[in-house]
Amino acid sequence: MSNYTYEEIDMVFMNGKVITMDPENSTAEAIAIKNDLIVMVGTNESVKPFISKSTQVIDLGGKTLLPGFIDPHNHFGQMAIAKLGLDLSPSAGVKSIADLQNKLLFRAANQTNDWWINGTSYDENKLEEKRHPNRWDIDQVVSDRPVILMHFSGHIAVLNSKAMEVVSITNDTPVPTAGKFGRDENGDLDGIFYGEAFWKLTEYYPRLVPPPSTLDICKGMKALGRDYLEEGITTVGDAVSYPWTFKAYQTLWKQKQLPLRVVMYIRNSFFDDFVKTGLVSGFGDKNLKIGGIKFFIDGSMSAGTAAVSDSPGYNQQLFCYTKEEITEMVNNIQKAGFQVAAHANGDIAINMFLDAVEEALQKNPIKDHRTRIEHCSVVNQEIIERIKKIGALPTIFAPMAWYHGDKVKRCIDPEKEKWAFAFRSFLDAGIPVSGHTDYPANPYAPRYGLYSQVSRTTRDSKQLFGPEQRISVLEALRTWTVNAAYATFDENIKGSIEPGKLADLVVLDWNPLLVEPQELKDLKVMMTVVGGEIRFVR
Ligand SMILES: [Zn+2]
Repeated sequence: MSNYTYEEIDMVFMNGKVITMDPENSTAEAIAIKNDLIVMVGTNESVKPFISKSTQVIDLGGKTLLPGFIDPHNHFGQMAIAKLGLDLSPSAGVKSIADLQNKLLFRAANQTNDWWINGTSYDENKLEEKRHPNRWDIDQVVSDRPVILMHFSGHIAVLNSKAMEVVSITNDTPVPTAGKFGRDENGDLDGIFYGEAFWKLTEYYPRLVPPPSTLDICKGMKALGRDYLEEGITTVGDAVSYPWTFKAYQTLWKQKQLPLRVVMYIRNSFFDDFVKTGLVSGFGDKNLKIGGIKFFIDGSMSAGTAAVSDSPGYNQQLFCYTKEEITEMVNNIQKAGFQVAAHANGDIAINMFLDAVEEALQKNPIKDHRTRIEHCSVVNQEIIERIKKIGALPTIFAPMAWYHGDKVKRCIDPEKEKWAFAFRSFLDAGIPVSGHTDYPANPYAPRYGLYSQVSRTTRDSKQLFGPEQRISVLEALRTWTVNAAYATFDENIKGSIEPGKLADLVVLDWNPLLVEPQELKDLKVMMTVVGGEIRFVR
């Protein structure tokens, strides 16, 4: 602090409960900010001498100040584009196939560009009919232009007949080894494409639906960024970045309009293109950087396609690659200088991945690789020990036990509940596990994750889901801050309130350490600060 004079301090927060998340979990009353950095953390008295006429003083009035939340895995770019599409989620009022058809009809009448009609986030469990919409449901209302509807999990899509015609999918199209095509009782395609069947066939969803213009994507990113800031999120790990989202991020970055900090995980279908450019993990700056390369190993926990052992509910397991293919990918990605991030939910998939990582590291040893296991949902003691030995890093769905707990309960071997979303076991093993939302698979607000991590209570039936894996509020907060920063190699610049770190902050109305667990999901963000700049105030 002695390096600064009072004229130089830009901003001071006082009279607060500052939960710093430093290694000692210490608390403070006040902090001082210079440019985009925290320069002092201490008592009200200690910052007072540095307040000048030009200092912006914020009286917290007893409210709680925390490091900004970091969500290391969600689909910000994809959802920014979806923001331009048609919201078919239950919260948008879609409770039946008829509701969905009405929305499509209205959209078709009002969408003037020639972009596909792009519906997002439908949830068949929340529809009266308790089934997916099919091509004929869509054809009834829109038959002259292509329509695609994405399931909220991002692992299932429904095309109308026109869209199937445009991408030349017929009854005779060979089914890829992973995933499946939906068919009616006569064996005709019903327009529903599950998991990798859909992704592999078309290479990936956005190439099927031409992406909107860069400026439109920027518009979506700014709008979604505002939503995230309202929930205190200051950094996102974009778990599937594409060239066009990279381009939009760069446009916003250049104009200093990025709403929050972004770490991009590039989809492996673009790996060859990216290698040619010579880009590596860490390229970029504190606002926008390349995190690594992301690929999928198995399916989804909420769609019943994850590779979980001994669980009849997971009888539609998807395997996107063979073990040999995974080993080769890990090897190539690591050799090219990228962090590996592999989506692996079930214990079978996680073990497959760990075999591959072990083999790749034997050939090409890397010290601090932090190979990420995305979701890492169902484990056991042996897997945890393997992860620790290899130096891999799990990042886990934080809200899942609550948000999808009832569904997972119906699918999973009951003995495995205590090994699902295993925050307690990973922390006990000394592994800095982080929490994430995987939005749109779960809501983007971290407060739901905190509630789920602490209560392990399901949303609908209010049953306990593997209560052995409960963690404390403080531990849960660490999974969203310091541990999440570690997952993207950013622990030296963010994740805690310490001098020298970026002034990425969130002010909450109540102290999360003092409220009842069920109140965690009702916490309100009063202010969000990114790099010393107030980006949201309630
Ligand atoms: Zn994801």
